[in-house]
Amino acid sequence: MKANVSELFYSTQGEGITIGSPSIFIRFCGCNLRCPFCDTKYALDCKNYLSYEEIINQIKQFPAKRIIFTGGEPALQDEFIAFFISKNPNFFYQMETNGTILPQKSITLLDHITVSPKMFEINTDVLKEFKNIVKSVEFKFVVNEDFDKEMELIYRLTLKPVVFQPIWENENLSEYIQKTTKIIEKVKEKAPFIRVIPQIHKILYGNRRGI
Ligand code: SF4
Repeated sequence: MKANVSELFYSTQGEGITIGSPSIFIRFCGCNLRCPFCDTKYALDCKNYLSYEEIINQIKQFPAKRIIFTGGEPALQDEFIAFFISKNPNFFYQMETNGTILPQKSITLLDHITVSPKMFEINTDVLKEFKNIVKSVEFKFVVNEDFDKEMELIYRLTLKPVVFQPIWENENLSEYIQKTTKIIEKVKEKAPFIRVIPQIHKILYGNRRGI
């Protein structure tokens, strides 16, 4: 069996509630969305098919037992993911998805799913499924200082736990910190059940691939 893989690397999770965990990242090619703020555009249309054997041989070189399927949109490669997990049950498996496609075969095999809904393309039925089926889930929203639309969705679908990740646009580090601080203050007032977690890997290493 083959998978369309943009990159495979060993790093530390820099986002969401599993932040700080040394992890092996399998970034798949292909996505059903085109977000203007996408920071992995190189993975949207690439073609790089690797066999299961090529992938597992690379993974075995890393000391971690934690794998993050990301993209692109990993739910598009649901069949490969389910196959991979069935062959290697001794890893911890996380998926990072945009929440528009239900990964039917792997959803109950994954240990944690980060669902990152994009406000211009919401599939409420799929979001409800993630909320109800997955054993461990988080809903991570990439936000600016105005997050009223996100709050409406969170309350309407009773999503939890929720993470806000301040969006990093064309700004320098001190501007990003200022924006993040404003979002933190607003969350403290309006929605204190939400965690605000910036993209730590970008702060530490800059905006580049393989980190
Ligand atoms: S869903 Fe993710 S990978 Fe796809 S375009 Fe949006 S940000 Fe990029």
